[in-house]
Amino acid sequence: MHKYKRVLLKLSGESLMGNKNFGMDSEVISQYAREIKAVTDLGIEVALVIGGGNIYRGMNEVETGIERAHGDYMGMLATVINGMALQAGLEKIGLFTRLQSAIKMEQIAEPYIRRRAIRHLEKGRVVIFGAGTGNPYFTTDTAGSLRAIEINADVILKGTRVDGVYTADPEKDPTATKYDEVTYQECLTKNLRIMDMTAFTLCMENNLPIIVFDMNQEGNLKKLVEGEKIGTLIR
Ligand code: UDP
Repeated sequence: MHKYKRVLLKLSGESLMGNKNFGMDSEVISQYAREIKAVTDLGIEVALVIGGGNIYRGMNEVETGIERAHGDYMGMLATVINGMALQAGLEKIGLFTRLQSAIKMEQIAEPYIRRRAIRHLEKGRVVIFGAGTGNPYFTTDTAGSLRAIEINADVILKGTRVDGVYTADPEKDPTATKYDEVTYQECLTKNLRIMDMTAFTLCMENNLPIIVFDMNQEGNLKKLVEGEKIGTLIR
C-alpha cells in the first residue's frame, strides 16, 4: 500500500541545470522523468509545478532595468519552457502528459482549467502546471501550493538539493540537525525558511502537508510516496 493517491511535485528551475550554469541538462530531465514514472507506475496521480529560475527571475529590477511586474511575466514564460522540456522527457519514456498554462498560449498548452486538470489526473496523465499562478509578485512555490490545494492533492513534495529542513544552515553550522517532522507553527517561530510566506501560509491554512526532500537522490521520490521517512514532513 502506498501512502498517497495524488501528489503535487514542485521542482525548482535551477534543479534542471544539473552542473550547468544556465538552462537545462538533458540528463537531469531524463532522470526526473524516470523518477516520476516510477511513481505513476504505482498508480499514483502526479501533478507538476516547475520553476523558472534557471532561465529568468523577475526580481532584479535594479540590475536589469526591467520593471518588476514585466520581469515576473518573463519569469512565468520561463516556467513554460521548462514545463515543455519536462513534458518531452516524460513522453519520451511513455507517459501521457498535459501542460496547462496560467497564461493563455493555446498553440503549446491548454489553458489552466481546474476540473480538466483533475480529469487528466484521474486518467493517469501527468499534468504540468506552467506559468506559475499567472500573476506577477508570486512565486512558483505559491503556484505549487495553490494548485495542490485546488486539485485536492494529499501533499506537496518540494524536491530540492538538500535532504530536508535543518535547525540551522548545515553549511554554516556544523551542529545543525535535520528534522524528520516539524509543525507549521514551529517553522514560523523558529523562522525556518521552507517556502516564501505566501506559499507557506496557503499550505498552513489549508492543512496541506509539505515534504522537503532531495530530488537528486535516485529512488527517493518513489520511496517517499510509498511511505518511507525521507526528507522533512511539515504539517
Ligand atoms: N513568477 C511570477 N508569478 C508566479 C510564478 C512565478 O511572477 O506565479 C515569476 C517570478 O519572476 C519568478 C520567476 O517567475 O522569479 C520564476 O519562478 P521561481 O523564481 O519561483 O522559480 P524557481 O525558484 O522555483 O526556479
